[in-house]
Amino acid sequence: MTRIPFIGGNWKMNLTPTAAVAFVQKIQPKLPPRSAVETVIAASPLFLTSMQAVQGDGPVQIAAENCFYRDEGAYTGEVSPKALRELAIPYVIVGHSERRKYFNETDDIINKKVQAVFKNQMTPILCCDETMGRFENGDRVSWAVGQVTAALRGVSATDASKLIIAYEPSWAIGTGHSAPSQEAEDGCYLIRQTVADLYSDEVADQTRILYGGSVTDENIKDLMAEPNIDGVLAGKASVNPAEFLKLANFET
Ligand code: PEP
Repeated sequence: MTRIPFIGGNWKMNLTPTAAVAFVQKIQPKLPPRSAVETVIAASPLFLTSMQAVQGDGPVQIAAENCFYRDEGAYTGEVSPKALRELAIPYVIVGHSERRKYFNETDDIINKKVQAVFKNQMTPILCCDETMGRFENGDRVSWAVGQVTAALRGVSATDASKLIIAYEPSWAIGTGHSAPSQEAEDGCYLIRQTVADLYSDEVADQTRILYGGSVTDENIKDLMAEPNIDGVLAGKASVNPAEFLKLANFET
């Protein structure tokens, strides 16, 4: 099965509404068509509607970086998945290592968020992190099985086949030291095997698995040449339009 490459940007708490709009206007004419490469920018909820207003029919899709697991209620400061759905947001990042680390998100919370995103007809970009300790101890299998299994509890096979999963070793995020492409491939392969064990080979064949952690225009070609890497999730390289365009046009 051919999986369409997915080039995602995670802006985190960067840019401003004005810069976000200028970014979209700048990249749109130079992106590959959506049928060839899906390009997605996850941005602050403060920018989503103004980015959508200049999005037009161009290829880039505007995503959310996070949401809560309840649709509405007394949850001051949280982002409602129901509201994101009304904005026609296609993707929501769930379980990023910074959410796990700074906002104490547990596997249980992440599982509730995955379910809430699917319930609202959007697709989670589920991030699974991996610490250096686990990597060095050769503990990768229990890591992949544990995080992916916990996040997908109660998720149907139909939903799982639409899922995007990002293998993001926390030792590579924001450090300037990407995992070598073979290590990244091994992490993505383990995740795909876990999805196959939880569901079936058919589902695992459809799930798109990304690598994230210090991706640049210099390492993207090697990463994308690996059979189990269907795309990337980039932080730093996604906040600069010229750099993001190089990632999106990795095939040329
Ligand atoms: C990220 O935070 O998802 C990420 C991959 O960041 P960076 O590309 O900056 O390592």
